[in-house]
Amino acid sequence: MSEKLKGIAASSGVAVAKAYLLVQPDLSFETKNVEDTDHEEARLDDALAASLSELSLIKDKAISSLGEEAAAVFDAHMMVLQDPEMIGQIKETIRAKKTNAEAALKEVTDMFITIFEGMDDNVYMQERAADIKDVTKRVQANLQGVKLPSPALINEEVIIVAEDLTPSETAQLDKKFVKAFVTNIGGKTSHSAIMANTLEIPAVLGTKNITERVTNGQMLAASGLTGEVIIDPTDAEQDEFRKAGAAFEAQKAEWAALKNAETVTADGKHFELAANIGKPADVEGVNANGAEAIGLYRTEFLYMESDHFPTEDEQFEAYKAVLEGMNGKPVVVRTMDIGGDKKLPYFKLPDEMNPFLGWRALRISLSEAGDGMFRTQLRALLRASVYGQLRIMFPMVALVTEFRAAKKILLEEEAKLKAEGVAIADDIEVGIMIEIPAAAMLADQFAKEVDFFSIGTNDLIQYTMASDRMNEQVSYLYQPYNPSILRLINNVVKAAHAEGKWAGMCGAMAGDQTAVPLLMGIGLDEFSMSATSVLQTRALMKKLDSAKMAELADKALTEAATMEEVLALVDDYTK
Ligand code: PEP
Ligand code: MG
Repeated sequence: MSEKLKGIAASSGVAVAKAYLLVQPDLSFETKNVEDTDHEEARLDDALAASLSELSLIKDKAISSLGEEAAAVFDAHMMVLQDPEMIGQIKETIRAKKTNAEAALKEVTDMFITIFEGMDDNVYMQERAADIKDVTKRVQANLQGVKLPSPALINEEVIIVAEDLTPSETAQLDKKFVKAFVTNIGGKTSHSAIMANTLEIPAVLGTKNITERVTNGQMLAASGLTGEVIIDPTDAEQDEFRKAGAAFEAQKAEWAALKNAETVTADGKHFELAANIGKPADVEGVNANGAEAIGLYRTEFLYMESDHFPTEDEQFEAYKAVLEGMNGKPVVVRTMDIGGDKKLPYFKLPDEMNPFLGWRALRISLSEAGDGMFRTQLRALLRASVYGQLRIMFPMVALVTEFRAAKKILLEEEAKLKAEGVAIADDIEVGIMIEIPAAAMLADQFAKEVDFFSIGTNDLIQYTMASDRMNEQVSYLYQPYNPSILRLINNVVKAAHAEGKWAGMCGAMAGDQTAVPLLMGIGLDEFSMSATSVLQTRALMKKLDSAKMAELADKALTEAATMEEVLALVDDYTK
């Protein structure tokens, strides 16, 4: 009997394939007294050898899919596995304490991890601690005869089933084999959804407990269009899903015809359609989908996919590649937004009650601890500015004084570079994300000082509604069409225009086909979304009349009390 469940449709497309569980196994064990310590040492040697050969396979795979540089992290892991000092201490512990290999491994590696993590200000040591943690898990699994999931080694068509997916796990996925993914947690704006959209992998998130209901190899049908998932689908159900997938692909082919078309409404008004990216390789998709600009480059992925703080030169190369790839079209680069659900293995964030309300993004950059990395990033950006049309954007701004402080640091670094004789473009626009209600309310004052706004609705909605964007229990409060949100957006757009500035949006709402008519009516200038939504949005805008959408927006802003009333108005005006 097939079993149905429902999650949040987070990335379009449909797949039917076997489940591949990407779940961390339980590696708890009992500490035992052993007599035959030679046997325990031999078990340890076997587990180390098995781990080494697994890592070498994963590394080869990573080189072919991600390149030499990205695969270098595995060298560090393999070095840990062969560290004579650490292995010697584990064996010594087995002999001295007459304990099993599992317990000795844990005791010694925990000690190393604690020492390295304690060196708070030493990034290199933080990285070593993260490496040891990662590697120990693999050795522990091999000691216990348990297999760790290795997504990089998948070589048949599968649907990934996981609690959640980290960006580094997602980066290892090979689109040829991974046909979709289904997770327990996350929603439309979680970072796994953003990655899925960029990679064009269908995704259903927030099913609550799919990992408990499915076993490895079981058949699944998943629709990223409706959020439906079927476990053990019947032949008829498989057919139905495959048909829906084919219809979606046909629709995509129709949109593709608009790749080189201008984005104009039925009455001739132009809007700028831009795309969001996470790494230089995404530029290909931006151009393939005919976007007119990059409205958001989330640079934190550069930091998250590395095992160390990216150096100025590494960052310069990435920014230059993006600017060159866009051939003079605008590129909005956002300075790093670490914190919230985005963590770095080599930079310790404090344990916080509410990380989304905590030490995040520009708050880190402007702190003493973050000042160095902020300046490094700004220098890399300024140096890259001559390769295209760069716009710099600061995330998570609440105060005008935060913007001023960030801009001051930017100008200081610019002056230093100029003194060194480095060429820098003279037309770099500097703007901010509007994702905190305080900034949305004070947009008129901000507009006097910034060059542009980009509204980050993923955060703006969670902060306005006081509803965690990762928590599916309160996901009903993620209401882009609520009049309160529309009024904030309207306030921002009008404030920008009053000062002759432009306002864009780079949150998921910008590509939401129901929201687009309202945003057109409000007069948003630039819409930045996952590249895969650009053509669909261009097709929609072509059909709509801007004056009529202005009337729709006016009604929604002045007459509606609920999201449902707004939706009814959109329906009326777009029929
Ligand atoms: C947003 O908050 O809308 C946004 C675009 O930023 P992020 O999703 O990276 O937090
Ligand atoms: Mg945000």
